[in-house]
Amino acid sequence: MTHIEVILPIFNEVKNIPLLLERLDKVQKELNEQALLTYLFINDGSEDGSRELLNQLHFLRKDIRVIHLLHNFGHGPALACGVEHFKGNIAIFMDADLQDPPEAIPEMFEAWKKGAKTVVAERASRSENNKLLFNTFYYLLHKVAPTLPPVDFGTHCLLDVSVINRIRTLKEKTRYFPGLVGFASPKVEAIPVHRLKRVEGNSRVGLKGLIHLAITAFLSFSSMPVRFVSILGLLASVTALISGTVIVAIKLFTSLAIPGWASMMSALAFGSGIQLLCLGIIGEYIARIYDEVKERPLYLVETLLENGPHRSLSLENSDLMPKVLRF
Ligand code: UDP
Ligand code: MG
Repeated sequence: MTHIEVILPIFNEVKNIPLLLERLDKVQKELNEQALLTYLFINDGSEDGSRELLNQLHFLRKDIRVIHLLHNFGHGPALACGVEHFKGNIAIFMDADLQDPPEAIPEMFEAWKKGAKTVVAERASRSENNKLLFNTFYYLLHKVAPTLPPVDFGTHCLLDVSVINRIRTLKEKTRYFPGLVGFASPKVEAIPVHRLKRVEGNSRVGLKGLIHLAITAFLSFSSMPVRFVSILGLLASVTALISGTVIVAIKLFTSLAIPGWASMMSALAFGSGIQLLCLGIIGEYIARIYDEVKERPLYLVETLLENGPHRSLSLENSDLMPKVLRF
């Protein structure tokens, strides 16, 4: 039987976990004897009771493994931990807030059976507020980074173990997950999926996290930003040369005084602004080079819970126990 391990990064999702498991259990029923679903929860330093719930789930269900990270490292590092610790024939990556519908798994699995090694859930449509922002981001990214898979997908995907093994060889610390998936896959197949709204709570990644991810995506899959700096520098030099020549010519060959303190100041301010912008872009690269050379691990594992079950029969048969805790 094919073993599918679903990798679920968790940061304060205590209310979503039971709903998610209930829906995943239905998917298991649909898959029937064809595939066995198991779950690897990466608890990324939750502080809302997710930790305790996951401990309980691991205690009671033999299909659940749990990794508690030492503290909150972020979505990307939690995914890297999932890649490293995955066991099975197929990995499914998805968010735990039900924005990625679990019901897409059977269709992804069908594509795998037909030979696909990487199947991504293409965000055919979204129920989120900042649609325009996402669309602009993907449009720009695909323009400047042609090696990326030309689909709008986040982290919801199916990866064959062969692809996971290839991603495991990629040791870079600046990680844009969809980029790594594209890089390690012979071909990326996409199935259209509607991205839903988060069921409970607000985004854990947030706008700041998304901006960081966007910068990481641009910097790690394209040299465009730094090339932009060079082009800007070149344009500024040519402009300065031309205007300098004109100013000298006016001084030498005419009796006109060179007017314009204001225009000079604005040119100066414009020039300084460009210089700061360029320094900032170069600084982003340097910060990432520093991250790479430090070789600090992306995440640290505090506890790994596996080799269950330790469940007690009396609890298992109790009607008081929530449905998701039974196996
Ligand atoms: N997440 C995580 N660590 C974090 C932030 C988020 O493991 O520091 C998890 C979160 O619990 C969820 C997934 O990553 O399962 C996606 O997070 P979120 O929904 O906040 O991202 P968004 O959908 O807003 O991009
Ligand atoms: Mg979300």
